[in-house]
Amino acid sequence: DKRLLTIGEVLVEIVATTKGDGFRAAQPLIGPFPSGAPAIFVDQAARIGAEAAIISRVGADDFGKVNLDRLAADGVDISGIAVADDGAPTGSAFVRYRGDGSRAFVFNIAHSACGQLELTREAEAVIERCSHIHVMGTALSAPGLSHLIKAAIVRIKGQGGTLSFDPNLRPEILDTPGLRSALGEILAQTDVFLPSGDEIFLFTEAQDEAGAVKDLLARGIPEIVLKRGAKGASHFCAAGRTDVAPLAVEEIDPTGAGDCFGGAFVGMWLMGHPVEEALAYANAAGAHAVTRVGPMEGTATRAELDQFMKDRTR
Ligand code: ADP
Repeated sequence: DKRLLTIGEVLVEIVATTKGDGFRAAQPLIGPFPSGAPAIFVDQAARIGAEAAIISRVGADDFGKVNLDRLAADGVDISGIAVADDGAPTGSAFVRYRGDGSRAFVFNIAHSACGQLELTREAEAVIERCSHIHVMGTALSAPGLSHLIKAAIVRIKGQGGTLSFDPNLRPEILDTPGLRSALGEILAQTDVFLPSGDEIFLFTEAQDEAGAVKDLLARGIPEIVLKRGAKGASHFCAAGRTDVAPLAVEEIDPTGAGDCFGGAFVGMWLMGHPVEEALAYANAAGAHAVTRVGPMEGTATRAELDQFMKDRTR
């Protein structure tokens, strides 16, 4: 089997238990919840049965331990997560839900341990063992991380490995200088592209979905997996198109759906399963994620996803 690697921020989230227009003094909160898009992705990939590793850096504190313990318990190779010896803390985010269900954040990540991520000997050993790298657009907006990710891509692609790419872009980081050209370089090396909704138009002038897909395939991207939120998902390659209908779920917390979808798809893909199967499990993993409060609480094993799908088909 192929072993997958991702690189990026690991943090905790502390979440308001009531909806409202702002945080109030002494209001109820729950957490810390393990989080960080790459961490959610890799946790889901490991839980579905893939060999999966992450390179990151946490503080020598309880929040770091919360993440290390969860990832290790779920089978992720955490040997590439450095623990800071310079007093830098694990990143954290305080989250509240607005009346319309959207989320507002107070981030404490500007000076977090992950900002000083370096290529340690342990990280290098992890890269050497891996034959696939999953790149997240958000990580490329952080200069230190971006440098390390590019070095890992050169190495893994040079070893004959493959690359999956989820642009995962928040609008506020799209204007980061150099980000667009960095993303374009990654796209040119992508084996599986996993955009969400309108992200399919990030790298094409095409005006409609079919045109965008055609353009991307013509440019040599072998596989595209389009996430459609509550409308399911589609896979495109030279051989044609495969759709998967959404599972009926009650959406409690949309955080992490795309990351769980990606972790399940790439995990199954790397284990050699056919596209239909990988897509079905990814669709179930995304739907399962939205039924749980907390970003990483919705990751699921293959057996759990089998049961989840069975409960929703007649
Ligand atoms: P992102 O978080 O990257 O925007 P999406 O919201 O598109 O990703 O969710 C990823 C996938 O999870 C979807 O393509 C779908 O398969 C599944 N999913 C997400 N939300 C729902 C939902 N409300 N009902 C059913 N499936 C969902």
